[in-house]
Amino acid sequence: MNRVLKGGLMMACGAVAAEAVRRFVYYEPQRRYDPWERSPYKEFSNRVLVVGGGFAGYTVAKTLGELTEDRDDVGVMVINKENFFTYWPMVAGIISSDVETKNVAQPLRRALIGSGASFRRAELESVDFEQKLVKTSSGLEFPYDHLVLALGADPAFFGIPGVEEHCISMKTLVDAENIRNRLIERYEEATLAREEASESNGKMDGDEIPESKLTFVVIGGGATGVEIASELHALAHKTLAPDYPNIDPKRVKIFLVDSNEEILKELDPALRRAARRHLEELEVKVINEVRAEEVTDGKVILDDGQEIESENVVWTAGNRASAKVEDLDVPQKGEKGVETDEYMRVPGRENVWAIGDCAANVDKDGEAVPPNAQAAVQQGEALAKNILAVIDGSDELTPFEYKPMGQLVELGSQFAVNEVMGVKFKGLPAALFWRAAYLFKLESPENRARIAADWFLDLFFHPSVTQIRGR
Ligand SMILES: Cc1cc2nc3c(=O)[nH]c(=O)nc-3n(C[C@H](O)[C@H](O)[C@H](O)COP(=O)(O)OP(=O)(O)OC[C@H]3O[C@@H](n4cnc5c(N)ncnc54)[C@H](O)[C@@H]3O)c2cc1C
Repeated sequence: MNRVLKGGLMMACGAVAAEAVRRFVYYEPQRRYDPWERSPYKEFSNRVLVVGGGFAGYTVAKTLGELTEDRDDVGVMVINKENFFTYWPMVAGIISSDVETKNVAQPLRRALIGSGASFRRAELESVDFEQKLVKTSSGLEFPYDHLVLALGADPAFFGIPGVEEHCISMKTLVDAENIRNRLIERYEEATLAREEASESNGKMDGDEIPESKLTFVVIGGGATGVEIASELHALAHKTLAPDYPNIDPKRVKIFLVDSNEEILKELDPALRRAARRHLEELEVKVINEVRAEEVTDGKVILDDGQEIESENVVWTAGNRASAKVEDLDVPQKGEKGVETDEYMRVPGRENVWAIGDCAANVDKDGEAVPPNAQAAVQQGEALAKNILAVIDGSDELTPFEYKPMGQLVELGSQFAVNEVMGVKFKGLPAALFWRAAYLFKLESPENRARIAADWFLDLFFHPSVTQIRGR
């Protein structure tokens, strides 16, 4: 009896302690205002409409919200194609199932409501600059006093025949899932082909499906291409291996094709070499100084005459400003996007601003700002201040100053090459730093906790390899 009582008491204490921890850790999403406390967006005297809720657009809206917390004359509305913000640096991790897709998609609504901004899931179709109206594909119109264009980038195919038709390009989260699903599909096909072969001739020699089905070619040796090639290796050799014991993962051939002398040309030469050595250890075949001349449904033809038989080609060799900006009546700098001055203003258009990958931004010295996440975030912060300065009638705008923090490239979960404020490091410490840095930079606390949990669980369990197929 005494024992039963003790056991009961311990369980009760355990439950109380667990509830106390839960309450301590539990994060209750807060909105800044209740709906009746704030006027609708359209009624504000200064309406800032941000089109695009990625790194640049989200940051400008959030910063404006912080800067106008005590004011009721500035209303901010974000419109975005999706109701989430893609955390691009972690997208490659979806391929090996290192992270769950939904954890890389940060919900926009909750975060923006918390900052005092409004959000609508809508797609910009056109802008009437005279009436100061953004028209969306659903026909709805959004008025503005200040318009921020932050539409991001699209893949550039340079007119190479077959690329757009036959390659998977990294445009959305679904593309990362498609790459993972493609290899799972090939494994399923290979398993069935073995079964068929054994039924018809009693032999299973392992060559029942053509090599081109198990050969993956990643075109583009920048950070995205290198990360994708490494994640494909991890998918074949680690994630899928226990579920497909009859398939030798070495049958999966991965090529990385790059037109430059070396891969990762933006990195320090020693780090480039370290990355290349690591890829060679993974048996990823790196081919430099060649360009894809044509891609067909069965092969990649290179401009040095080589042909790689492959039915799985991933294109990462080029990006351009969102093609949508070409439809807008704003000055453009070709595929670099909307022209802006050093204050991020669009010349000739009153109170129209453009930032991030859709804009050909320049810094205070007239130098081009690179299209990356750090620049987009820094522009968002700087632009919020300039917009407020204009609203407040000041003509003292601050020119944009880009402060590069470094470059981090992860090659699978155990190896990275990093350059942070001039310090170069590689290997497992660099991979841990990569994870800590990008985890810290995630905006959503829920996504941060879930991704940390994904990584923690991966230490003990193989991620699942389910292939969810649409019917
Ligand atoms: C696979 C990949 C990995 C990357 N890794 C890194 C990295 O590790 N480090 C780094 O610094 N940079 C990285 N980048 C680059 C970085 O993600 C971009 O430079 C950054 O996202 C630019 O921010 P942005 O706001 O301009 O565009 P985005 O973040 O892409 O946001 C644009 C938003 O506009 C929306 N949109 C587009 N068209 C419309 C429309 N017509 N109507 C409404 N909304 C629209 C989109 O849905 C999107 O949400 C990576 C890019 C890719 C593709």
